[in-house]
Amino acid sequence: MTDLATSASSIYSQILDVIGGVEPRIAEATRSELADQRASLKLIASENYASLPVLMTMGTWLSDKYAEGTIGHRFYAGCRNVDTVESVAAEHARELFGAEYAYVQPHSGIDANLVAYWSILAHRVESPALERLGAKNVNELSEADWETLRKSFAEQRVMGMSLDVGGHLTHGFRPNISGKMFHQRSYGTDAKTQLIDYDKLLADAREFKPLILVAGYSAYPRRVNFAKMREIADEVGATLFVDMAHFAGLVAGKVFTGEENPVPYAHVVASTTHKSLRGPRGGFVLATAEYAPSVDRGCPMVLGGPLSHIMAAKAVAFAEARTDAFRGYAQSVADNAKVLADGLLKRGASLVTGGTDNHLVLIHTSTFGVTGRQAESALLDSGIVTNRNSVPNDPNGAWYTTGVRIGTPALTSRGFGADEFDKVAELIVDVLSNTTPTLTAAGAPGKAKYTLADGVAERTKAAASELLDANPLYPGLVV
Ligand code: PLP
Repeated sequence: MTDLATSASSIYSQILDVIGGVEPRIAEATRSELADQRASLKLIASENYASLPVLMTMGTWLSDKYAEGTIGHRFYAGCRNVDTVESVAAEHARELFGAEYAYVQPHSGIDANLVAYWSILAHRVESPALERLGAKNVNELSEADWETLRKSFAEQRVMGMSLDVGGHLTHGFRPNISGKMFHQRSYGTDAKTQLIDYDKLLADAREFKPLILVAGYSAYPRRVNFAKMREIADEVGATLFVDMAHFAGLVAGKVFTGEENPVPYAHVVASTTHKSLRGPRGGFVLATAEYAPSVDRGCPMVLGGPLSHIMAAKAVAFAEARTDAFRGYAQSVADNAKVLADGLLKRGASLVTGGTDNHLVLIHTSTFGVTGRQAESALLDSGIVTNRNSVPNDPNGAWYTTGVRIGTPALTSRGFGADEFDKVAELIVDVLSNTTPTLTAAGAPGKAKYTLADGVAERTKAAASELLDANPLYPGLVV
């Protein structure tokens, strides 16, 4: 047992006892969550296991301080320690990603995207209007000019990757506020290769003329050429906004370099901190110097007061991500994803785009005669945690789907390597090959219910336990 795990063990069990003295159900749920995470193969591509230092940093009295505003310029007194926390986190983020500016206040990825959108609207729409009208801020505008400006916000266009090829709701889709703020057109992938077709994207962008071109994804298993994205943005006068929520860890770990690194090419980059980057649950925004002043208006424009304890944990996670150990981790995440994809393919699975070159894999569940929902549930019964996901032109829609998305960041953090991921591929194919849809009253395969052949869940859980026991989560931590 390491020194850290020994002290963490005693600290956490005392903390949980204290919490249990006030609300025992919360202490119990917290203990139970650790047990669940330890006992399952976590393959959700957007999840990870933060380090003990990151977890510990979140639980302090920094949470008690209000600090609306920016470093050294707060709307509350007594913020010197929050200033230190935010400065350290922002400095690490700038240096880790080579960015001109970093804003570490966003509470999540969606919040970071909202800051990005508002900063682009402020820079591209509001500031030029104020300058034209000779006003310092919106309060100086006449009612008529303010109405004109408000209307012009609503006329702006955004172009992002289509949801069913892996884009995210926040990239201008109707169920999200971004779809209500902007006119949206999405770009898809080539019908045959299932890869982004940059020529088609350029042609569509020339026609649509977006103010903002969004690059980034939740479920596209390939790398993006951000130099080409920037060329397209420049050609049509768009701001390039990259949402790297999923792959920030691969950028931080220098797996995505050159044209695959969004930071030198994008005007604004937003991200989460808790996915492949392995930090606390949160978000951040990187920007060129020209966009920095409008990014800084994130709170109170679209964000509530900064969560100082979380900014502190972001600083610790960024510091961890600057180490050689993290670079090795990030490379393993990508290497392991290839092993997982190859292991699935050689056992007869079919994958969207035919494989992966990032951290995630999208399995086409129709090969096994089941919907994504049936596959997700059968895998969960067998101790494998995944999530169902649409595939391009999904015949089953966004609820039942025809895909399952899996990723390597979490299990790689636990120490899984090539042998373990090949075994995971074997287990997944065994479960899916032994799952059959329950027939409807009319005799057709249903979309939700299924049967898993006898003994499959038990043998999968037993094999998973061997892998998990050999690669313990928070080794030595007893709560
Ligand atoms: N952007 C992308 C590309 C994502 O995949 C996600 C998460 O699913 C988000 C943003 C939102 O992140 P959060 O859940 O932290 O708001």
